Amino acid sequence: MPVKRADKTPMPVREANLRAHDFEEVNEGYCFAHAMFEAERCLRCQDPVCIDGCPVRVPIADFMHAVAAGDMPKAAELLRTANPLAAICGRVCPQEAQCEANCHMTKRFGPVAIGHLERYVSDWEMEQPINDEVAKPWRDEKIAIVGSGPSGLVCAGELARMGYTVTVFEALHAPGGVLRYGIPEFRLPNSILDWEIQSLERLGVEFVNNVIIGKTLKLEQLFGEMGYKAIFIGTGAGLPKFMGIPGESLNGVYSANEFLTRINLMQAFDFPRSETPLSVGKRVAVIGSGNTAMDAVRSALRLGAEHAMVVYRRSENEMTARIEEYEHAIEEGVEFHWLTNPIEVLGEDGWVTGLKCLRMELGEPDESGRARPVPIEGSEFIFPVDNVVLSIGTRPNPLLHKATPELKTHSWGGLLVDERQVETTVHRVYAGGDAVTGAATVILAAGAGKRAAEAIHADLSVDREKSATN
Ligand SMILES: Cc1cc2nc3c(=O)[nH]c(=O)nc-3n(C[C@H](O)[C@H](O)[C@H](O)COP(=O)(O)OP(=O)(O)OC[C@H]3O[C@@H](n4cnc5c(N)ncnc54)[C@H](O)[C@@H]3O)c2cc1C
Repeated sequence: MPVKRADKTPMPVREANLRAHDFEEVNEGYCFAHAMFEAERCLRCQDPVCIDGCPVRVPIADFMHAVAAGDMPKAAELLRTANPLAAICGRVCPQEAQCEANCHMTKRFGPVAIGHLERYVSDWEMEQPINDEVAKPWRDEKIAIVGSGPSGLVCAGELARMGYTVTVFEALHAPGGVLRYGIPEFRLPNSILDWEIQSLERLGVEFVNNVIIGKTLKLEQLFGEMGYKAIFIGTGAGLPKFMGIPGESLNGVYSANEFLTRINLMQAFDFPRSETPLSVGKRVAVIGSGNTAMDAVRSALRLGAEHAMVVYRRSENEMTARIEEYEHAIEEGVEFHWLTNPIEVLGEDGWVTGLKCLRMELGEPDESGRARPVPIEGSEFIFPVDNVVLSIGTRPNPLLHKATPELKTHSWGGLLVDERQVETTVHRVYAGGDAVTGAATVILAAGAGKRAAEAIHADLSVDREKSATN
Protein backbone atom coordinates (compact mmCIF):
# COMPACT_ATOMS: atom_id res chain seq x y z
CA MET A 1 0.00 0.00 0.00
CA PRO A 2 1.44 3.46 -0.87
CA VAL A 3 2.50 5.46 2.19
CA LYS A 4 0.82 8.89 2.52
CA ARG A 5 3.08 11.81 3.36
CA ALA A 6 1.49 12.17 6.79
CA ASP A 7 1.82 8.46 7.69
CA LYS A 8 4.43 7.06 10.05
CA THR A 9 7.57 6.14 8.08
CA PRO A 10 7.56 2.33 7.99
CA MET A 11 10.52 0.44 9.44
CA PRO A 12 12.40 -1.32 6.62
CA VAL A 13 12.27 -5.08 7.27
CA ARG A 14 13.86 -8.14 5.70
CA GLU A 15 11.60 -10.24 3.49
CA ALA A 16 9.49 -12.64 5.52
CA ASN A 17 10.29 -15.81 3.56
CA LEU A 18 14.04 -15.17 3.91
CA ARG A 19 14.17 -14.04 7.53
CA ALA A 20 11.93 -16.90 8.77
CA HIS A 21 14.86 -19.27 8.27
CA ASP A 22 17.68 -17.45 10.02
CA PHE A 23 18.40 -15.54 13.22
CA GLU A 24 19.56 -12.29 11.56
CA GLU A 25 17.81 -9.12 12.73
CA VAL A 26 14.39 -8.63 11.12
CA ASN A 27 14.19 -4.83 11.31
CA GLU A 28 16.83 -3.06 9.23
CA GLY A 29 16.60 0.37 10.84
CA TYR A 30 15.99 3.83 9.36
CA CYS A 31 18.46 5.57 7.08
CA PHE A 32 19.31 9.28 7.56
CA ALA A 33 16.54 10.41 5.16
CA HIS A 34 13.91 8.32 6.99
CA ALA A 35 15.03 9.78 10.32
CA MET A 36 14.93 13.38 9.09
CA PHE A 37 11.54 12.92 7.49
CA GLU A 38 10.06 11.20 10.53
CA ALA A 39 11.39 13.74 13.04
CA GLU A 40 9.77 16.48 10.93
CA ARG A 41 6.39 14.80 11.47
CA CYS A 42 6.55 15.76 15.16
CA LEU A 43 4.06 18.57 15.79
CA ARG A 44 6.24 20.18 18.50
CA CYS A 45 3.23 20.18 20.86
CA GLN A 46 3.07 22.85 23.57
CA ASP A 47 2.33 20.08 26.02
CA PRO A 48 4.38 17.05 24.86
CA VAL A 49 2.21 14.36 26.44
CA CYS A 50 4.31 11.66 24.77
CA ILE A 51 6.75 12.15 27.66
CA ASP A 52 4.06 11.12 30.18
CA GLY A 53 3.81 7.79 28.38
CA CYS A 54 7.52 7.06 28.80
CA PRO A 55 8.37 5.24 32.07
CA VAL A 56 11.82 6.94 32.19
CA ARG A 57 10.59 10.30 30.86
CA VAL A 58 12.90 10.71 27.86
CA PRO A 59 12.65 14.42 26.87
CA ILE A 60 11.06 13.39 23.58
CA ALA A 61 10.25 16.90 22.33
CA ASP A 62 13.88 18.10 22.67
CA PHE A 63 15.08 14.79 21.24
CA MET A 64 12.86 15.23 18.14
CA HIS A 65 14.11 18.76 17.73
CA ALA A 66 17.74 17.61 17.84
CA VAL A 67 17.13 14.82 15.30
CA ALA A 68 15.26 17.15 12.93
CA ALA A 69 18.16 19.62 13.20
CA GLY A 70 20.58 16.79 12.34
CA ASP A 71 22.30 17.25 15.70
CA MET A 72 22.89 13.54 16.46
CA PRO A 73 25.40 14.07 19.32
CA LYS A 74 22.80 16.17 21.15
CA ALA A 75 19.99 13.70 20.38
CA ALA A 76 22.13 10.80 21.64
CA GLU A 77 23.04 12.66 24.82
CA LEU A 78 19.38 13.51 25.56
CA LEU A 79 18.42 9.88 25.05
CA ARG A 80 21.21 8.30 27.05
CA THR A 81 20.79 10.62 30.04
CA ALA A 82 17.18 9.50 30.43
CA ASN A 83 17.48 5.94 29.16
CA PRO A 84 20.84 4.21 29.47
CA LEU A 85 19.60 1.26 27.37
CA ALA A 86 18.26 3.27 24.43
CA ALA A 87 19.58 1.00 21.64
CA ILE A 88 17.84 -1.91 23.33
CA CYS A 89 14.60 -0.07 24.14
CA GLY A 90 14.47 1.33 20.59
CA ARG A 91 14.17 -2.31 19.52
CA VAL A 92 11.99 -3.95 22.16
CA CYS A 93 9.89 -1.32 23.99
CA PRO A 94 6.12 -1.51 23.47
CA GLN A 95 6.05 2.14 22.30
CA GLU A 96 2.57 1.69 20.85
CA ALA A 97 1.27 1.36 24.42
CA GLN A 98 3.55 4.05 25.89
CA CYS A 99 4.97 7.25 24.36
CA GLU A 100 3.49 6.70 20.88
CA ALA A 101 0.03 5.97 22.34
CA ASN A 102 -0.04 9.56 23.66
CA CYS A 103 1.26 11.20 20.45
CA HIS A 104 -1.27 13.71 19.03
CA MET A 105 -0.54 12.43 15.51
CA THR A 106 -1.97 9.04 16.52
CA LYS A 107 -5.55 10.29 16.23
CA ARG A 108 -5.41 11.19 12.52
CA PHE A 109 -2.32 9.52 11.09
CA GLY A 110 0.19 7.14 12.59
CA PRO A 111 2.07 8.40 15.68
CA VAL A 112 5.56 9.80 15.24
CA ALA A 113 7.86 6.74 15.24
CA ILE A 114 9.57 7.66 18.51
CA GLY A 115 10.90 4.11 18.99
CA HIS A 116 12.36 3.84 15.48
CA LEU A 117 14.10 7.21 15.94
CA GLU A 118 15.43 6.11 19.34
CA ARG A 119 16.93 3.12 17.60
CA TYR A 120 18.32 5.23 14.74
CA VAL A 121 20.10 7.67 17.07
CA SER A 122 21.51 5.00 19.38
CA ASP A 123 22.75 2.98 16.39
CA TRP A 124 24.43 6.19 15.17
CA GLU A 125 26.02 6.54 18.63
CA MET A 126 27.36 2.98 18.50
CA GLU A 127 29.18 3.75 15.27
CA GLN A 128 31.12 6.68 16.78
CA PRO A 129 34.74 6.23 17.90
CA ILE A 130 35.02 5.35 21.59
CA ASN A 131 37.49 6.37 24.24
CA ASP A 132 38.95 3.07 25.51
CA GLU A 133 40.03 4.49 28.86
CA VAL A 134 38.50 2.79 31.90
CA ALA A 135 37.14 5.26 34.45
CA LYS A 136 38.38 4.99 38.06
CA PRO A 137 35.86 5.09 40.92
CA TRP A 138 36.50 8.01 43.25
CA ARG A 139 34.30 7.08 46.18
CA ASP A 140 35.24 4.63 48.95
CA GLU A 141 32.03 2.60 48.98
CA LYS A 142 31.59 -0.63 47.00
CA ILE A 143 28.17 -1.69 45.71
CA ALA A 144 27.12 -5.23 44.69
CA ILE A 145 24.51 -5.80 41.99
CA VAL A 146 22.83 -9.21 41.89
CA GLY A 147 21.65 -10.10 38.40
CA SER A 148 22.67 -8.52 35.09
CA GLY A 149 19.30 -7.93 33.43
CA PRO A 150 18.25 -4.38 32.47
CA SER A 151 17.53 -3.35 36.09
CA GLY A 152 20.99 -4.48 37.24
CA LEU A 153 22.79 -3.02 34.22
CA VAL A 154 21.16 0.40 34.62
CA CYS A 155 21.68 0.47 38.39
CA ALA A 156 25.35 -0.48 37.87
CA GLY A 157 25.89 2.21 35.22
CA GLU A 158 24.27 4.98 37.22
CA LEU A 159 26.26 4.14 40.36
CA ALA A 160 29.54 3.87 38.43
CA ARG A 161 28.88 7.32 36.95
CA MET A 162 28.45 8.60 40.52
CA GLY A 163 31.93 7.29 41.36
CA TYR A 164 31.17 4.04 43.21
CA THR A 165 33.03 0.76 42.78
CA VAL A 166 30.42 -1.59 41.31
CA THR A 167 30.47 -5.38 40.90
CA VAL A 168 27.70 -7.23 39.05
CA PHE A 169 27.23 -10.87 40.08
CA GLU A 170 25.45 -13.02 37.48
CA ALA A 171 24.31 -16.64 37.91
CA LEU A 172 24.69 -17.50 34.21
CA HIS A 173 27.92 -17.62 32.22
CA ALA A 174 27.18 -14.39 30.30
CA PRO A 175 25.63 -11.10 31.44
CA GLY A 176 22.41 -9.53 30.16
CA GLY A 177 19.53 -11.43 31.77
CA VAL A 178 16.51 -11.86 29.50
CA LEU A 179 18.15 -9.53 26.96
CA ARG A 180 20.73 -12.31 26.43
CA TYR A 181 18.96 -15.58 27.15
CA GLY A 182 15.33 -14.70 26.31
CA ILE A 183 14.98 -12.22 23.46
CA PRO A 184 16.33 -13.81 20.24
CA GLU A 185 18.99 -12.34 17.98
CA PHE A 186 16.43 -11.63 15.24
CA ARG A 187 14.90 -8.97 17.52
CA LEU A 188 17.88 -7.91 19.60
CA PRO A 189 21.35 -8.85 18.32
CA ASN A 190 23.83 -9.77 21.06
CA SER A 191 26.27 -7.25 19.56
CA ILE A 192 23.99 -4.44 20.84
CA LEU A 193 23.95 -5.87 24.35
CA ASP A 194 27.72 -6.47 24.22
CA TRP A 195 28.25 -2.81 23.29
CA GLU A 196 26.21 -1.71 26.32
CA ILE A 197 28.12 -4.06 28.62
CA GLN A 198 31.48 -2.88 27.27
CA SER A 199 30.37 0.72 27.91
CA LEU A 200 29.69 -0.24 31.53
CA GLU A 201 33.10 -1.91 31.77
CA ARG A 202 34.68 1.32 30.56
CA LEU A 203 32.84 3.08 33.39
CA GLY A 204 34.71 0.69 35.71
CA VAL A 205 31.88 -1.83 36.38
CA GLU A 206 33.20 -5.35 37.06
CA PHE A 207 31.16 -8.37 35.89
CA VAL A 208 31.50 -11.67 37.75
CA ASN A 209 29.59 -14.50 36.04
CA ASN A 210 28.70 -17.99 37.27
CA VAL A 211 27.95 -16.80 40.81
CA ILE A 212 24.56 -17.55 42.35
CA ILE A 213 23.94 -15.15 45.20
CA GLY A 214 22.12 -17.08 47.93
CA LYS A 215 24.08 -20.22 47.03
CA THR A 216 27.68 -19.54 45.96
CA LEU A 217 27.76 -16.42 48.12
CA LYS A 218 25.32 -15.18 50.76
CA LEU A 219 24.22 -11.56 51.23
CA GLU A 220 25.95 -11.54 54.66
CA GLN A 221 29.25 -12.39 52.97
CA LEU A 222 28.84 -9.53 50.51
CA PHE A 223 28.27 -7.11 53.39
CA GLY A 224 30.79 -8.77 55.76
CA GLU A 225 34.14 -10.05 54.51
CA MET A 226 33.65 -8.58 50.99
CA GLY A 227 32.91 -5.08 52.29
CA TYR A 228 29.98 -4.01 50.07
CA LYS A 229 28.01 -1.10 51.54
CA ALA A 230 24.81 -1.67 49.59
CA ILE A 231 23.33 -4.43 47.44
CA PHE A 232 20.85 -4.17 44.55
CA ILE A 233 18.80 -7.26 43.71
CA GLY A 234 17.70 -7.45 40.08
CA THR A 235 17.19 -11.18 39.82
CA GLY A 236 14.15 -11.01 37.53
CA ALA A 237 11.26 -13.45 37.31
CA GLY A 238 12.74 -16.41 35.50
CA LEU A 239 10.87 -19.27 37.13
CA PRO A 240 8.40 -20.69 34.58
CA LYS A 241 4.80 -21.52 35.43
CA PHE A 242 3.37 -24.85 34.27
CA MET A 243 -0.25 -25.67 33.45
CA GLY A 244 -0.50 -28.76 35.63
CA ILE A 245 -2.10 -30.79 32.84
CA PRO A 246 -1.30 -34.48 32.18
CA GLY A 247 1.69 -35.14 29.94
CA GLU A 248 3.72 -32.02 30.80
CA SER A 249 6.76 -34.14 31.72
CA LEU A 250 6.96 -35.90 28.33
CA ASN A 251 10.10 -35.48 26.20
CA GLY A 252 9.56 -32.62 23.75
CA VAL A 253 7.76 -30.37 26.26
CA TYR A 254 9.71 -27.25 27.19
CA SER A 255 9.06 -24.13 29.18
CA ALA A 256 9.58 -21.13 26.87
CA ASN A 257 12.44 -19.98 29.12
CA GLU A 258 14.30 -23.27 28.73
CA PHE A 259 13.55 -23.41 24.98
CA LEU A 260 14.83 -19.87 24.39
CA THR A 261 17.80 -20.20 26.75
CA ARG A 262 18.97 -23.31 24.93
CA ILE A 263 18.80 -21.41 21.64
CA ASN A 264 20.03 -17.94 22.61
CA LEU A 265 22.51 -18.60 25.39
CA MET A 266 23.64 -22.17 24.71
CA GLN A 267 23.49 -21.89 20.86
CA ALA A 268 21.51 -25.14 20.54
CA PHE A 269 20.79 -24.23 16.88
CA ASP A 270 24.46 -25.04 16.23
CA PHE A 271 24.43 -28.51 17.88
CA PRO A 272 26.62 -30.66 17.74
CA ARG A 273 29.16 -27.83 17.33
CA SER A 274 27.64 -26.37 20.48
CA GLU A 275 27.19 -28.66 23.48
CA THR A 276 23.46 -28.19 24.03
CA PRO A 277 20.91 -30.12 21.97
CA LEU A 278 17.29 -29.13 21.32
CA SER A 279 14.78 -31.45 19.76
CA VAL A 280 12.50 -29.46 17.46
CA GLY A 281 10.10 -31.45 15.27
CA LYS A 282 7.98 -30.47 12.30
CA ARG A 283 4.95 -29.40 14.36
CA VAL A 284 5.46 -27.14 17.35
CA ALA A 285 2.68 -25.72 19.55
CA VAL A 286 3.49 -22.74 21.76
CA ILE A 287 0.94 -22.09 24.50
CA GLY A 288 0.46 -18.42 25.43
CA SER A 289 0.29 -15.08 23.61
CA GLY A 290 2.89 -12.73 25.09
CA ASN A 291 6.25 -11.56 23.73
CA THR A 292 7.85 -14.73 25.05
CA ALA A 293 5.38 -16.90 23.13
CA MET A 294 6.08 -14.91 19.91
CA ASP A 295 9.83 -15.30 20.41
CA ALA A 296 9.48 -19.05 21.02
CA VAL A 297 7.21 -19.72 18.05
CA ARG A 298 9.29 -17.63 15.64
CA SER A 299 12.44 -19.41 16.90
CA ALA A 300 10.75 -22.78 16.29
CA LEU A 301 10.12 -21.71 12.67
CA ARG A 302 13.77 -20.78 12.29
CA LEU A 303 14.77 -24.19 13.64
CA GLY A 304 12.85 -25.96 10.89
CA ALA A 305 9.28 -26.39 12.18
CA GLU A 306 6.87 -26.62 9.23
CA HIS A 307 3.89 -25.82 11.42
CA ALA A 308 4.75 -23.39 14.21
CA MET A 309 1.56 -22.49 16.03
CA VAL A 310 0.37 -20.36 18.88
CA VAL A 311 -2.41 -21.86 20.98
CA TYR A 312 -4.21 -19.39 23.25
CA ARG A 313 -7.35 -19.78 25.34
CA ARG A 314 -8.55 -16.20 24.81
CA SER A 315 -8.94 -14.22 21.56
CA GLU A 316 -6.62 -12.01 19.52
CA ASN A 317 -7.99 -8.97 21.41
CA GLU A 318 -6.61 -10.20 24.72
CA MET A 319 -3.16 -11.08 23.30
CA THR A 320 -0.37 -9.33 25.25
CA ALA A 321 2.50 -9.44 22.71
CA ARG A 322 3.77 -6.28 21.00
CA ILE A 323 1.82 -5.63 17.79
CA GLU A 324 5.01 -5.58 15.72
CA GLU A 325 6.02 -9.05 16.91
CA TYR A 326 2.54 -10.40 16.19
CA GLU A 327 2.50 -8.91 12.68
CA HIS A 328 5.97 -10.22 11.94
CA ALA A 329 4.95 -13.68 13.18
CA ILE A 330 1.92 -13.71 10.83
CA GLU A 331 4.07 -12.61 7.87
CA GLU A 332 6.54 -15.40 8.64
CA GLY A 333 3.82 -18.05 8.57
CA VAL A 334 3.06 -18.68 12.25
CA GLU A 335 -0.41 -20.21 12.71
CA PHE A 336 -2.66 -18.78 15.43
CA HIS A 337 -5.31 -20.85 17.18
CA TRP A 338 -7.38 -18.50 19.33
CA LEU A 339 -9.98 -19.58 21.89
CA THR A 340 -8.27 -22.93 22.25
CA ASN A 341 -7.31 -24.35 25.63
CA PRO A 342 -4.90 -27.29 25.96
CA ILE A 343 -6.05 -29.92 28.48
CA GLU A 344 -3.54 -32.75 27.94
CA VAL A 345 -0.21 -33.39 26.25
CA LEU A 346 -0.38 -36.79 24.55
CA GLY A 347 2.63 -39.05 24.04
CA GLU A 348 4.04 -42.36 22.91
CA ASP A 349 7.21 -44.04 24.21
CA GLY A 350 7.86 -41.01 26.40
CA TRP A 351 7.74 -38.47 23.53
CA VAL A 352 5.08 -35.89 22.66
CA THR A 353 2.69 -36.86 19.85
CA GLY A 354 -0.23 -34.48 20.30
CA LEU A 355 -2.01 -31.76 22.21
CA LYS A 356 -5.59 -32.34 23.32
CA CYS A 357 -7.55 -29.06 23.39
CA LEU A 358 -10.98 -27.64 24.04
CA ARG A 359 -12.60 -24.85 22.07
CA MET A 360 -13.49 -21.82 24.21
CA GLU A 361 -15.83 -18.86 24.04
CA LEU A 362 -15.55 -15.57 25.87
CA GLY A 363 -17.69 -14.86 28.92
CA GLU A 364 -17.88 -12.07 31.49
CA PRO A 365 -14.63 -10.26 32.47
CA ASP A 366 -12.56 -12.03 35.15
CA GLU A 367 -10.44 -10.50 37.96
CA SER A 368 -7.85 -9.34 35.35
CA GLY A 369 -10.61 -7.31 33.62
CA ARG A 370 -10.30 -9.43 30.47
CA ALA A 371 -13.13 -11.58 29.08
CA ARG A 372 -13.10 -14.96 30.83
CA PRO A 373 -12.61 -17.94 28.47
CA VAL A 374 -15.35 -20.55 28.97
CA PRO A 375 -15.03 -24.11 27.59
CA ILE A 376 -17.50 -25.21 24.90
CA GLU A 377 -18.86 -28.58 25.94
CA GLY A 378 -17.99 -31.53 23.73
CA SER A 379 -15.50 -29.49 21.64
CA GLU A 380 -12.43 -31.66 22.40
CA PHE A 381 -9.98 -32.20 19.56
CA ILE A 382 -6.31 -33.13 19.06
CA PHE A 383 -3.47 -31.28 17.33
CA PRO A 384 -0.78 -33.74 16.22
CA VAL A 385 2.45 -32.08 17.48
CA ASP A 386 6.09 -33.01 18.17
CA ASN A 387 6.78 -30.25 20.70
CA VAL A 388 4.84 -28.23 23.20
CA VAL A 389 6.38 -25.00 24.52
CA LEU A 390 4.70 -23.51 27.59
CA SER A 391 4.71 -19.74 27.70
CA ILE A 392 2.06 -18.99 30.29
CA GLY A 393 4.08 -16.74 32.58
CA THR A 394 6.94 -16.73 35.06
CA ARG A 395 7.52 -15.92 38.74
CA PRO A 396 10.49 -14.58 40.71
CA ASN A 397 12.89 -17.34 41.70
CA PRO A 398 12.65 -18.01 45.48
CA LEU A 399 16.30 -19.08 45.90
CA LEU A 400 17.67 -15.80 47.23
CA HIS A 401 14.92 -14.99 49.70
CA LYS A 402 14.86 -18.62 50.90
CA ALA A 403 18.56 -18.22 51.73
CA THR A 404 17.82 -14.86 53.39
CA PRO A 405 14.55 -15.21 55.35
CA GLU A 406 14.67 -11.52 56.41
CA LEU A 407 13.99 -10.63 52.75
CA LYS A 408 10.19 -10.51 52.83
CA THR A 409 8.05 -11.21 49.77
CA HIS A 410 4.45 -10.96 48.61
CA SER A 411 2.52 -14.26 48.59
CA TRP A 412 3.20 -14.56 44.83
CA GLY A 413 6.97 -14.28 45.38
CA GLY A 414 7.75 -10.63 44.48
CA LEU A 415 10.17 -8.89 46.85
CA LEU A 416 8.58 -6.37 49.23
CA VAL A 417 10.01 -2.86 48.92
CA ASP A 418 9.47 0.38 50.87
CA GLU A 419 7.29 3.34 49.92
CA ARG A 420 10.11 4.70 47.72
CA GLN A 421 9.76 1.42 45.76
CA VAL A 422 13.45 0.63 46.23
CA GLU A 423 14.63 -0.71 49.60
CA THR A 424 13.73 -4.25 50.67
CA THR A 425 13.02 -5.37 54.23
CA VAL A 426 16.79 -5.76 54.74
CA HIS A 427 18.73 -2.57 55.53
CA ARG A 428 20.77 -1.32 52.52
CA VAL A 429 19.47 -4.12 50.30
CA TYR A 430 17.54 -2.64 47.37
CA ALA A 431 15.58 -4.35 44.60
CA GLY A 432 13.86 -3.59 41.30
CA GLY A 433 12.68 -4.97 37.99
CA ASP A 434 10.75 -8.21 37.57
CA ALA A 435 11.93 -9.49 40.99
CA VAL A 436 9.68 -6.80 42.52
CA THR A 437 6.89 -6.32 39.96
CA GLY A 438 6.65 -9.81 38.47
CA ALA A 439 7.24 -10.25 34.72
CA ALA A 440 7.00 -6.78 33.14
CA THR A 441 9.07 -4.84 30.59
CA VAL A 442 12.66 -3.81 29.87
CA ILE A 443 11.96 -0.11 30.33
CA LEU A 444 10.21 -0.62 33.68
CA ALA A 445 13.18 -2.69 34.87
CA ALA A 446 15.60 -0.02 33.60
CA GLY A 447 13.59 2.69 35.39
CA ALA A 448 13.66 0.68 38.62
CA GLY A 449 17.44 0.30 38.35
CA LYS A 450 17.82 4.04 37.92
CA ARG A 451 15.52 4.82 40.87
CA ALA A 452 17.42 2.36 43.08
CA ALA A 453 20.79 3.91 42.15
CA GLU A 454 19.52 7.37 43.18
CA ALA A 455 18.22 5.97 46.49
CA ILE A 456 21.46 4.08 47.19
CA HIS A 457 23.46 7.25 46.57
CA ALA A 458 21.13 9.31 48.79
CA ASP A 459 21.19 6.74 51.62
CA LEU A 460 24.95 6.22 51.52
CA SER A 461 25.45 10.00 51.52
CA VAL A 462 23.44 10.15 54.77
CA ASP A 463 25.52 7.28 56.22
CA ARG A 464 28.70 9.11 55.18
CA GLU A 465 27.58 12.35 56.85
CA LYS A 466 26.60 10.47 60.01
CA SER A 467 29.94 8.72 60.30
CA ALA A 468 31.76 12.04 59.65
CA THR A 469 29.93 13.71 62.55
CA ASN A 470 30.45 10.75 64.95
C1 LIG B 1 11.43 -14.12 25.87
C2 LIG B 1 11.10 -12.78 26.45
C3 LIG B 1 10.83 -11.74 25.60
C4 LIG B 1 10.57 -10.46 26.12
N1 LIG B 1 10.33 -9.45 25.26
C5 LIG B 1 10.17 -8.20 25.73
C6 LIG B 1 9.98 -7.10 24.85
O1 LIG B 1 9.91 -7.24 23.64
N2 LIG B 1 9.87 -5.86 25.39
C7 LIG B 1 9.93 -5.64 26.73
O2 LIG B 1 9.89 -4.49 27.16
N3 LIG B 1 10.08 -6.68 27.59
C8 LIG B 1 10.21 -7.94 27.14
N4 LIG B 1 10.36 -8.99 28.00
C9 LIG B 1 10.38 -8.71 29.45
C10 LIG B 1 11.74 -8.14 29.89
O3 LIG B 1 12.78 -8.79 29.22
C11 LIG B 1 11.89 -8.25 31.40
O4 LIG B 1 10.82 -7.53 31.99
C12 LIG B 1 13.23 -7.67 31.87
O5 LIG B 1 14.32 -8.33 31.28
C13 LIG B 1 13.35 -7.75 33.39
O6 LIG B 1 14.60 -7.27 33.76
P1 LIG B 1 15.26 -7.62 35.18
O7 LIG B 1 16.47 -6.79 35.28
O8 LIG B 1 14.24 -7.48 36.23
O9 LIG B 1 15.64 -9.16 35.13
P2 LIG B 1 16.13 -10.22 34.06
O10 LIG B 1 16.27 -9.66 32.70
O11 LIG B 1 15.24 -11.39 34.24
O12 LIG B 1 17.58 -10.59 34.59
C14 LIG B 1 17.78 -11.18 35.83
C15 LIG B 1 19.18 -11.75 35.89
O13 LIG B 1 19.46 -12.14 37.23
C16 LIG B 1 20.15 -13.37 37.22
N5 LIG B 1 19.94 -14.00 38.52
C17 LIG B 1 18.79 -14.53 39.02
N6 LIG B 1 18.98 -14.99 40.26
C18 LIG B 1 20.28 -14.74 40.57
C19 LIG B 1 21.08 -14.99 41.72
N7 LIG B 1 20.56 -15.57 42.81
N8 LIG B 1 22.39 -14.63 41.70
C20 LIG B 1 22.92 -14.03 40.58
N9 LIG B 1 22.20 -13.77 39.47
C21 LIG B 1 20.90 -14.12 39.46
C22 LIG B 1 19.50 -14.13 36.07
O14 LIG B 1 20.35 -15.17 35.62
C23 LIG B 1 19.34 -13.02 35.05
O15 LIG B 1 20.48 -12.89 34.24
C24 LIG B 1 10.58 -10.27 27.52
C25 LIG B 1 10.80 -11.35 28.38
C26 LIG B 1 11.06 -12.59 27.86
C27 LIG B 1 11.32 -13.74 28.80
